[in-house]
Amino acid sequence: MNIILLGPPGAGKGTQAQFLAESRDMIQLSTGDMLREAKDSGTEMGNIVADVMARGDLVTDDIVIGLIREKLEGDKKGGVIFDGFPRTLAQADALEELLADTGETLDAVIELQVNDETLVQRIVGRAEEARAAGQPVRADDNEDSVRQRLMEYYKKTSPLIGYYYAKGKLSRVDGLGEIDEVRAAISDALD
Ligand code: ADP
Repeated sequence: MNIILLGPPGAGKGTQAQFLAESRDMIQLSTGDMLREAKDSGTEMGNIVADVMARGDLVTDDIVIGLIREKLEGDKKGGVIFDGFPRTLAQADALEELLADTGETLDAVIELQVNDETLVQRIVGRAEEARAAGQPVRADDNEDSVRQRLMEYYKKTSPLIGYYYAKGKLSRVDGLGEIDEVRAAISDALD
């Protein structure tokens, strides 16, 4: 089974992707995590993406598609949970081709719905808590970057909702509840 978790920044995609990966023996592919790893490794690509990410803009399609292509060549266990990818229609097309190359299909797209003010509060609140505890804070977890991430989401990623709806793959889940309630709702949508 191959699943996409779609939704704005701070909607809880990463948390839910981890649950799914553990409970269904699947692998989680998070382009955000991959890009942060590249950034920390100090490679040329890492340096290019660091500023783009800190501002809250999207990294170019070529870079993220390249990262996903590489991972899809490895062990995929019981299937893949795509977390934060695709984020543009070009990425969605590329994913379809990559899956077709290995005879696979996309089974479901889960849209996590959360309103904007909750998202900004969650992300900025998370950053403040981390800072108070002396933990590292993401460079893009400040209010300006969060608002820019939301703008990028509405402009470039939200058209994917209509696209997957038209393909009959979309399930909408309320992402406002407790983590376990959201988890149960996703599970219901998939079974
Ligand atoms: P969030 O969903 O909370 O914004 P992510 O960790 O998924 O966090 O993404 C962080 C940043 O990484 C994005 O704002 C963007 O700059 C970059 N990024 C992640 N995935 C993609 C993608 N598929 N395409 C382009 N940029 C991406």
